[in-house]
Amino acid sequence: MLTGKYALVTGANRGIGLAILKTLAQHGANVIGGARREGSLDDVCSELSDSCGIEATPVYFDVSQPDQVKAAFQKITRITKQLDIAVNNAGIMDSSLLAMARSEDIESVFATNVFGTIYVMQYAARMMIRHKSGSIINLSSIMGVNGAEGQVVYSGSKAAIIGITRSAAKELAPYQIRVNAIAPGFIDTDMVSSISEEIRRERVDSIKIQRIGTPEDVANCTLFLASDNAAYVTGQVVGVDGGMLV
Ligand code: NAD
Repeated sequence: MLTGKYALVTGANRGIGLAILKTLAQHGANVIGGARREGSLDDVCSELSDSCGIEATPVYFDVSQPDQVKAAFQKITRITKQLDIAVNNAGIMDSSLLAMARSEDIESVFATNVFGTIYVMQYAARMMIRHKSGSIINLSSIMGVNGAEGQVVYSGSKAAIIGITRSAAKELAPYQIRVNAIAPGFIDTDMVSSISEEIRRERVDSIKIQRIGTPEDVANCTLFLASDNAAYVTGQVVGVDGGMLV
C-alpha cells in the first residue's frame, strides 16, 4: 500500500506512535522514527528493517526545540530527498484544573503539542512542496473537539491542532499535499495509565463500541490517511473514538 514511500513519525518509541511506525512499515513504507531519548528506537528500527524489508531509521530530536527540528531534517534529507508522509504524533498531556495550571506546564504542553507540530510541518511541507505531493497527519484529540473538565490546557492545544490542520490543508492543497487530523478518544497507552479506575470505567461506559481503543485502531486510520486510498481527503478531523461523540 505504501511501497517505496518515506514516512516520518514523531514520538515513535511507544504508544500510538510506535503502532503507527510499525503499521506503515508493515505496509511497505520506509520509516523514520522520531524520539527524544537517544537509542530508544535503535532496536525497533533494526527489527522493522529485517521483518518488513524496508529502511527504518531513528532520528533523535525534541519537537519543541526548533534547532533540534532543523538538525533532524538535515539528517532526514540525507536519508531521502522525498518525504511522502509526516505524522505529528509526539504529545504530552496536562491534567490540571484551570485555576491550578502552572505557567511552566502550560508552556511545555503548547511547546510540544502546538509549536512542535508547526515546526515539523514547516520542514515537511518544504520537502513535499518540491515534489508536489505528500500527506501530513496530525494527532489531535476528542478533547480538542469537545473539551473536558481538568483539560483546559491539553484540550486547548489539541483544538489548536485542528485550526493548524485546516489552515495548512487550504494552503498546501495546490501542491497536492493533503493535511488531516485524527481525534482519538480513549486509547490504552502510557498517557492514560495514571487515570483512576473510576474515571477509566466512566470513560469506557461512554464508548458506544464498549471497549477502550488500541494504538492499532489509530494506526489503521493513519494508514488510510497516508495512502492513496485517501487521495481526495484533506482538511478533515477523523474521530477514532469508538463512537464516544455519537
Ligand atoms: P504516550 O505518552 O504513550 O506517547 C507520546 C510520545 O510522544 C512518547 O514517545 C514521547 O516520548 C513523545 N514525546 C513527548 N514529548 C515529546 C517531544 N517534545 N519531542 C519528541 N517526542 C515527544 O502517548 P500516546 O497515548 O501514544 O499519544 C500519542 C498522541 O496521541 C499524542 O499526541 C496524544 O495527545 C494523542 N492522543 C492520545 C490519546 C489517548 O487516549 N492515549 C487520546 C487522544 C489523543
